[in-house]
Amino acid sequence: MDLNFTSEEAAFRRQVRAWLDDNLPTSGLRGFDRNADRDQSTLNRLKAWQRRVQEAGYLALAWPKEYGGQAMDPVRQSIVNEEMVRAKAPALIGGMGIAMVGPTLISWGDDEQKTRYLPKILAAEEIWCQGYSEPGAGSDLASLRTRAILEGDEFVVNGQKVWTSNAHFADMMFCLVRTDPDAPKHRGISYVLIDMKTPGITVKPLVQMTGERGFNEVFFDNVRVPRQNLVGKLNEGWMVANATLFHERNMLGSTTTTRMLLNRLKALAASTMRGGRPLAQDPVFRQRLADLEIRVEAMNYHMLRQLTDSIRGRNPGLGAWVNKLVGTELNHDLATAAMEAMGDYATLARDDRHALDRGFWPYEWMFSLGLVIGGGTSHIQKNIIAERGLKLPKSR
Ligand SMILES: Cc1cc2nc3c(=O)[nH]c(=O)nc-3n(C[C@H](O)[C@H](O)[C@H](O)COP(=O)(O)OP(=O)(O)OC[C@H]3O[C@@H](n4cnc5c(N)ncnc54)[C@H](O)[C@@H]3O)c2cc1C
Repeated sequence: MDLNFTSEEAAFRRQVRAWLDDNLPTSGLRGFDRNADRDQSTLNRLKAWQRRVQEAGYLALAWPKEYGGQAMDPVRQSIVNEEMVRAKAPALIGGMGIAMVGPTLISWGDDEQKTRYLPKILAAEEIWCQGYSEPGAGSDLASLRTRAILEGDEFVVNGQKVWTSNAHFADMMFCLVRTDPDAPKHRGISYVLIDMKTPGITVKPLVQMTGERGFNEVFFDNVRVPRQNLVGKLNEGWMVANATLFHERNMLGSTTTTRMLLNRLKALAASTMRGGRPLAQDPVFRQRLADLEIRVEAMNYHMLRQLTDSIRGRNPGLGAWVNKLVGTELNHDLATAAMEAMGDYATLARDDRHALDRGFWPYEWMFSLGLVIGGGTSHIQKNIIAERGLKLPKSR
């Protein structure tokens, strides 16, 4: 495992940092933006921000050059990600395209699909959502029942998706449909790309516990999808779906947010008085902070090991599942510690003028709990690690 950055990588970090100092949006979008409920004006500004990052050459650095990337190793991308969080840059609005469907298309898409979709992902011209979960098909995703029947050169899609993040403003959906209902459940599934403006699609926002419309129900009523939007082979979409899940779990388990949360928790503990002294000097709370910091460090070394593996072309193994399990739970535990540190103030929301740390923590506590569930719950990650990594018997 390589624990050090090279001098070129250190210079690259300085260059990214200087660019961010000069180019961060000056109003409105600054700050660590976990906000899921975006109005049109915010959306436009977030798209403009993504385009600026792309023009500077800091987007999708590991993608091949012919699709708008820089063909660089993933270390550079992780440096950019870290610096973005450090600088409190706005989140990238096209994140699901850049981190999930884009890499999937690079591996599984045909040339026409790559040329058609990848540039628009990077330029934030098309925002994507993920149509996997259904009522009755969440953890057991392969039970999905949204049906697609091939009629000539088109699929006719009927059914329902649920918890579809961003569908209320997405232009495109990567979607799992059942194309052979008689095959065993992991077969007979296909991976299709659906234009969200196609007639027959109804999107109904769902309000999350944060009070925002982050995800949606999506209904398909005789929605016609061109056959050329099939990714991979007919009825063999399960492998394509898993490629996307691999990328999703890496994205959700990223350590950059975790480090930022730890630093913010330490600052809160230093400024919060308990029993006549800062909470950071309370022996019990210090134990808690030490425990969390040890977990953050362990996660950091895990990330460095994966970067080393990926540079050396080694199989990442179950790293993505460990990232998702440990990273999302750690973020939520950091937020829980902050909530306990704040006592009664933890009940004050972001818009309350008495809220500590501008109400960041109650929102983060709720939001981070969602990420423990989204992308596959912790129980499911543990099952996968146990079965595929530790070779334990399958759960029933
Ligand atoms: C914030 C958020 C955003 C999301 N965004 C999207 C999105 O954009 N697109 C999308 O398709 N989906 C999305 N989802 C859905 C998400 O993928 C599912 O919620 C998740 O896979 C769990 O499925 P479920 O909700 O149906 O719960 P269930 O599968 O019904 O699980 C209920 C409980 O049972 C446990 N459980 C189930 N099976 C097992 C087992 N075999 N062993 C042990 N425990 C088990 C689970 O861990 C959970 O605690 C999102 C969810 C959240 C919270």
